[in-house]
Amino acid sequence: MFPLYGGIEAGGTKFVCAVGTGPDDIRAEVRFPTTSPAETIKKAVAFFEEQQKLLNRPLTALGIAAFGPLDPNRGSPTFGFITSTPKPGWQNADLAGEVRRALKLPVGFDTDVNGAALAEGRWGAAQGLDTFLYLTIGTGIGGGGMVGGKLMHGLVHPEMGHIRLPRDRQADPFEGFCLYHGDCLEGLASGPALEKRWGVKAETLPPEHPAWALEALYLGLALSDFICTLSPQRIILGGGVMSQPHLFPLVRAETLRLLNGYVRSPQILEKIDEYIVPPALGARAGVLGAFALAKAAL
Ligand code: ADP
Ligand code: ZN
Repeated sequence: MFPLYGGIEAGGTKFVCAVGTGPDDIRAEVRFPTTSPAETIKKAVAFFEEQQKLLNRPLTALGIAAFGPLDPNRGSPTFGFITSTPKPGWQNADLAGEVRRALKLPVGFDTDVNGAALAEGRWGAAQGLDTFLYLTIGTGIGGGGMVGGKLMHGLVHPEMGHIRLPRDRQADPFEGFCLYHGDCLEGLASGPALEKRWGVKAETLPPEHPAWALEALYLGLALSDFICTLSPQRIILGGGVMSQPHLFPLVRAETLRLLNGYVRSPQILEKIDEYIVPPALGARAGVLGAFALAKAAL
């Protein structure tokens, strides 16, 4: 019998919990708003207890793909904690530890973007690659992925959404809204940044609005930096803002323009449409990422 996994996509706004074995087999799923750690974790634990009874089968392992910043380093005393988040109540919350103690299962724990990257690598748009990035452009901007077949960790984990960009303050006087940095990438180009700069929700901006050329410039600057730094074999762009389909060609064009022919790879020079791509797993990447983290925890 295939191992049965539990997965938690722990977002700052909502939690999605699921049990299953992989993309073609998600047996049950529940979602609820992220409130206090105690209440939210209790709901998640209750769901998995109930599912194990209903399916009359124990889970093999559980994975958590979470918002951050968090501590993903096994062996660290705060492994499994959400650390310096501005989200009220969640600073230093022992998310993975609470779940592990309640359910008595091996627990895998990583950033939401590393989870999504792992799932895209196993089942989606990055199959067969060992060095690739997954970025989400949504309520925040985050990046994860693999280098040489390993999920990116180091001191802590990458914070690709918080890089600084060269900018023309005359063309874009918006000061940015990141609590820590003001006009970092997330402060300039996340969904809420678009909303604050233009005064309307990002999803209502029409394709011909100047917002999109500026957005493509900021994303292109970031991608060209990541390409020069990590040499990824592919870059997957997900998150609510990227569900604007016209944004992909604009971002590809800006990335090519900014690299200016320097990185001599046919993947970039001839096949940019297959190089900067949407996720193949769509909205399921979160829980599937959590399943993949569960498997990796064994
Ligand atoms: P989260 O990052 O919280 O997981 P999403 O990835 O859905 O959630 O991102 C939400 C953000 O994306 C919001 O700021 C929203 O305005 C923006 N967004 C959602 N859908 C679209 C769309 N179709 N076009 C542009 N922006 C969108
Ligand atoms: Zn920032």
